[in-house]
Amino acid sequence: MKQPHGFITEQQRWQAVEQRDALADGTFVFAVKTTGIFCRPSCRARRPLRENTAFYDTPKAAQNAGFRACKRCQPDKLAPELQRVARIEEACRIIEASDSPLTLDELAGQVAMSSFHFHRLFKRVTGLTPNGWQKAHRARRLREALAGGKEVTQAIFDAGFQSGSAFYHQADETLGMTASQYRQGGARAHVQFVVGSCLLGEFLVAESERGICAILLGENAEALIDELESEFPRSQLTPGNEAFASRVAQVVSFVESPTAEFTLPLDIRGTAFQQQVWQALRAIPPGVTVSYSELAERIGKPAAVRAVAGACAANTLAVAIPCHRVIRSDGGLSGYRWGVERKRQLLENETRRQGE
Ligand SMILES: [Zn+2]
Repeated sequence: MKQPHGFITEQQRWQAVEQRDALADGTFVFAVKTTGIFCRPSCRARRPLRENTAFYDTPKAAQNAGFRACKRCQPDKLAPELQRVARIEEACRIIEASDSPLTLDELAGQVAMSSFHFHRLFKRVTGLTPNGWQKAHRARRLREALAGGKEVTQAIFDAGFQSGSAFYHQADETLGMTASQYRQGGARAHVQFVVGSCLLGEFLVAESERGICAILLGENAEALIDELESEFPRSQLTPGNEAFASRVAQVVSFVESPTAEFTLPLDIRGTAFQQQVWQALRAIPPGVTVSYSELAERIGKPAAVRAVAGACAANTLAVAIPCHRVIRSDGGLSGYRWGVERKRQLLENETRRQGE
């Protein structure tokens, strides 16, 4: 298995240089004492002798030691892939700074890319289309403004939405309730819930007007209700009615045996980043595991491993958003919001069913 940060010792680094390992690019540079030039590990230039080679953690350190950057591999510049990613990041900043929605052509033009390539790369880096990202960003701004106590119409305007009734509809969609309701502090106005036992212990399933908003697992019902209250402090929580109880049965059978697609509507809310992580999680099939760094790579943010772990921990929809399928790079189970033992059990069940 490939270690993400396995270019630490001189021996590992020399091996990477010998193999022109592009994965090592950006983790260190090597300098050649006889030519006074430094390169990235993947440089196509001829390999120096081992005894003429020195390693530096950063291009800056090599420069400080008196070496010049190779013209061929340009180790003092971002790698080509990162340069492209940097342009997408720039586009995200442009969206954030803009008071009104931007078209695809406008955005692509601002970062000097064709609309076609921009759209494709944007999707690959952020997991969302430029339009989807703009929507998520506006929704976040709106949530922040409303939480800060702004007047509804002003908050809508400040968030970069166009005025008019079309907007109210859209805001309702992104907030999961009317803007006025949100401002009054109801993250979800009304949440009904059911507690019970299943193969994994006690469970709590909760539903808002929009869909299933929490699936919690634990040892006792009281603790689960406490957890629900702290997740939705502003919602009115009530015991579920009969119709809901039948949907809960569906949820529980899914939790116990997550083979098929989860078909009930989910009420998923979080930051644009969390949503991205959760969507990536939902794409992991039963019986398959990934590491936190793999997941970070899948959403195009390989450096955001810790933030990805945070988004996994913030998940309130056990199994429906399968954060239990994320494990440490060394195969260790690491943490699980609802207990490592439960995580082990979930993974074992899934592996066993794969074998059947
Ligand atoms: Zn070079």
